[in-house]
Amino acid sequence: MSEQYDVVVIGAGPGGYAAAIRCAQLGLSTACIDKSTGKDGKPVLGGTCLNWGCIPSKALLDASHKYHDAKHGFAAVGVKVGSVEIDVPAMIARKDEVVTGLTGGIAGLFKGNGVTHLAGSGKLLKDRKVEFTSHDGAVSVLAAKNVIIAAGSVPVRIPPAPLTDGYIVDSTGALDFQAVPPRLGVIGAGVIGLELGSVWNRLGSEVIVLEALAEFLPMADERVSRDAKNILKKQGLDIRLGCLVTGAKVENGAVSVSFKNADGEQTVTVDKLIVAVGRRPATENLLGGDCGVNLDERGFLFVNDVCETDVPGVYAIGDVVRGPMLAHKATEEGVMVAERIAGHKPMVNYECVPSVIYTHPEIAWVGKTEQDVKASGDAYNVGTFPFAASGRALAANDAEGFVKVIADAETDRILGVHVLGPQASEIVAQAVISMEFDASAEDLGLTMFAHPTLSEALHEAALGVAGHAIHMINRKKK
Ligand code: FAD
Ligand code: AMP
Repeated sequence: MSEQYDVVVIGAGPGGYAAAIRCAQLGLSTACIDKSTGKDGKPVLGGTCLNWGCIPSKALLDASHKYHDAKHGFAAVGVKVGSVEIDVPAMIARKDEVVTGLTGGIAGLFKGNGVTHLAGSGKLLKDRKVEFTSHDGAVSVLAAKNVIIAAGSVPVRIPPAPLTDGYIVDSTGALDFQAVPPRLGVIGAGVIGLELGSVWNRLGSEVIVLEALAEFLPMADERVSRDAKNILKKQGLDIRLGCLVTGAKVENGAVSVSFKNADGEQTVTVDKLIVAVGRRPATENLLGGDCGVNLDERGFLFVNDVCETDVPGVYAIGDVVRGPMLAHKATEEGVMVAERIAGHKPMVNYECVPSVIYTHPEIAWVGKTEQDVKASGDAYNVGTFPFAASGRALAANDAEGFVKVIADAETDRILGVHVLGPQASEIVAQAVISMEFDASAEDLGLTMFAHPTLSEALHEAALGVAGHAIHMINRKKK
């Protein structure tokens, strides 16, 4: 007799662990299988996000920002420090401690909520059965009333730049450099490439980012991408657009990278190269041939709006399905599926998924870009407010960027909010709440914000939609 559960979850990243915890909280007998192991070879929970993604990258972004600020920013506000040094191994070790603490926290949450953790690989078979292979090779079959697949994603590899120990690495390798590479190449000016490029640029690397597309951050609002590119370039990131990497080889202790741009074949030599060209769904050895779950045309597990696959009782969530590859999107899908299994009817509002790039200043947005709205042909109004006019941003000597609110011209409903600036990730949360409640720009304008705060820039941008911003010159009398 195979072991029987109400729910078996495959994958314990932010999608799978949240789903498993919520299932158990709802009284469902739940097992969660995960195959990840940490640096010591022991099983770890938390998936990409906690181990090799969101958390370690933010630990390094925060540490490198502190170093850079101490070295280059403190004097401007009258703080004198002696010589400032970076201890890379200590920075990496602290990052690892943060990761270990958090992954251990998930183990505690599993125990406390009654989730059975099974360390090893899971494979979906027919009739909602799951083959479980433990790390020591023992194979068993679990029977489940419901299965949630949350297998996540893995870095895309490209033939021109094969990973080469110590020289050509993916994002995981770039979180573990033990010294600052004097010259660093990054392939891909996406979110991960820009964040990792920023870390090592702040610590002193000369960073060249090679991006195949001619446009910078095409998914962002055009003004945000234009201003962000200028700011990041000013910080020293050598962002080269329209450069398709065609080869990379290690010679004489360095990496020679070839790329093609409008001027023809070029090469640059760097000490390390990060391949950050995107991620793909982790579907290897996940699906038995006759399990009935299908893939979509891009290789993601095919699901409907509420994350059901083609097999009743089998769901898939997070990076392994369509939609943005973001931890919070995975989590919300996991919770939705858990609650639907328990008979509730929640939905994920895909119109309100915030996107954040943790450069400095941060870049964050929710909803439509101005170019999207323009293309739709609908009439709209825009309010923008620069941080250079924010008392709090000026007081903190951190006043680059702006907030932009886009609202429907007829209904005044907020369609999108774009923030380039300090703590954009926190400010955008207020926009997400407003949009979840279908707020108008006027609603936000009528709301009281504490002074002095960075959030006041959102308030002023919302007021600006109707031309009422107070700290702006407005010649239209209305
Ligand atoms: P994952 O976190 O990938 O977890 C999947 C788990 O399933 C893994 O542990 C995997 O080993 C396991 N697994 C896979 N197949 C099997 C199997 N067959 N059997 C058993 N276990 C299996 N997102 C953000 O929102 N904010 C950020 O700041 C951010 N920063 C990032 C920085 C970096 C460097 C990277 C790489 C990613 C970042 N992301 C960020 C993306 C984020 O990490 C992912 O969107 C998120 O982890 C997806 O969650 P998930 O649960 O779908 O999958
Ligand atoms: P993202 O998917 O947001 O992580 O971004 C990855 C980026 O890598 C995309 O903008 C791609 O255009 C870029 N990219 C992919 N392959 C190459 C390549 N061979 N050379 C340069 N850039 C690339």
